[in-house]
Amino acid sequence: MKFTAHYFLLLLTVAKSKKNVLPDNFPNSTGERIMLDKIKINRNININLHKFMDYFQGFEHSPVTQKVFGENAKETLENLKVEFFSFRRGYMGVSEDDGHLIVSSYHLKNSDDKTLYLDVIHELVHVKQFMDGKQLFDERFEYHDRPTEIEAYQYTVEEARRIGMTDEEIMDYLRVWWMTDEDTKKLAERLGIKVGQDTS
Ligand SMILES: [Zn+2]
Repeated sequence: MKFTAHYFLLLLTVAKSKKNVLPDNFPNSTGERIMLDKIKINRNININLHKFMDYFQGFEHSPVTQKVFGENAKETLENLKVEFFSFRRGYMGVSEDDGHLIVSSYHLKNSDDKTLYLDVIHELVHVKQFMDGKQLFDERFEYHDRPTEIEAYQYTVEEARRIGMTDEEIMDYLRVWWMTDEDTKKLAERLGIKVGQDTS
């Protein structure tokens, strides 16, 4: 009983502490001490990179790819690498280190063709921006205001229209969990999309 009370008190102390980490002398249920110096983490992991064109075919013929990469389109895509991750949240991105594409396997399995196609186009613009030495994640701007995002979305929206999507469908495509409705509307307006009028 005495041990339980003491244990409870310790837990309370930890819960109240502003730090999110347990003190290194925090006892576990058997009373042993957890020592962080016994924990070993191998940080030298190999990231598995695959050839983009083994998984994404035909993009080299898309007019928008030609526009983004010019005459180097095919060669660039042949050299492009892709990394897959299985985290449910997050769709696609571009590595800040070497500009390779990063794709969620969950997204790949569950999203519709148009969404995936447009996401790849969007990311290919980021690949080109990386090649040009542009800063992809400029924290001075919010996502919907960031010049690299606006440019990527301009190409994406142009391509969405070319494949026959209506402004309403494009608006649906733009809605993502990390943008508020207001920010999505601002972005849509900048991209020349007619935002549906509220009927309320
Ligand atoms: Zn982007």
